[in-house]
Amino acid sequence: MTASKTGFFTHRDCSMHEMGPGHPECPARLDAIHDRLLVSGVADLLDHREAPPAPLADLELAHDRMHIAALRGLSDWLIEEELAGGPPLVQVDTDTSMNRHTWKAALRSAGAALAATDAVIAGELENAFCSVRPPGHHATRTKAMGFCFFNNVAVAAKYALQRHNLKRVAVVDFDVHHGNGTEDILAGDERALMVSIFQHPFYPYSGDQNPAPNMLNVPVPAYTKGMDVRDIVEMMWIPRLEAFKPEMIFISAGFDAHRDDDMGQLSLNEQDYTWITMRIKDVARRFSGGRIVSCLEGGYVMGPLARSVEAHVRVLADL
Ligand SMILES: [Zn+2]
Repeated sequence: MTASKTGFFTHRDCSMHEMGPGHPECPARLDAIHDRLLVSGVADLLDHREAPPAPLADLELAHDRMHIAALRGLSDWLIEEELAGGPPLVQVDTDTSMNRHTWKAALRSAGAALAATDAVIAGELENAFCSVRPPGHHATRTKAMGFCFFNNVAVAAKYALQRHNLKRVAVVDFDVHHGNGTEDILAGDERALMVSIFQHPFYPYSGDQNPAPNMLNVPVPAYTKGMDVRDIVEMMWIPRLEAFKPEMIFISAGFDAHRDDDMGQLSLNEQDYTWITMRIKDVARRFSGGRIVSCLEGGYVMGPLARSVEAHVRVLADL
């Protein structure tokens, strides 16, 4: 058997971050994914790698120093307070909170994307999936929100441009929610192209316009079906990606647009995720030397999440 060309990056710290009882963005999500990949045999065919913590200097490629320092300060405060019987959680946004493990988990999530980028650019791997939490695509340059602290994909995209001197990178986002944070960080940077599709009007109620020429937002109404999403990908995303000729593609891989995920009201299924991944992979093969780094974003119902990730990873790994 030849060595796998698809990396699988994760870290146990990613399961230590919790936002309280009943919160949908929970550690069980990663367990469900890992179980599914094990049972299906897919896990045996991937190159498993431990996510390192992201260096703060690399987070600063996408985030304001004050944002990073504020999160670190809150983490230090929580750890001190917990020893003194203080609260286990501190709220940073209406739906987003930190426990004493969040800082480490957020560094590992971003670090996974960075290490995957290094390995793919070095040619050790053709592509990679980062099975990490917290997710990233709502985190703006200055703000944690929508279950996100650092924007894993945007940090890695900037890193590929700045540290590896790539000239053009694309970000593809198929989460049910608009990736407002990625847009905030990448809009106006002509070295990056972001294409996305998301339910609208819906949280975070942005993306109905393109703030810069390097953004292609495609808002779609609730109950849009997989076939219609495929048409949009074919007619709008693919020509833009082909014209841009990215040297590397990053995927914000949220699976909450699945029809059985009650977080949103779109109607994708596993076959749609297979098809979308194949189309992205085809662009990567033609223009990007096959280079793809995909990072988990949303997906909140365990069965559909795990099956959809399996479908996605099977395409990445040619299984
Ligand atoms: Zn989402």
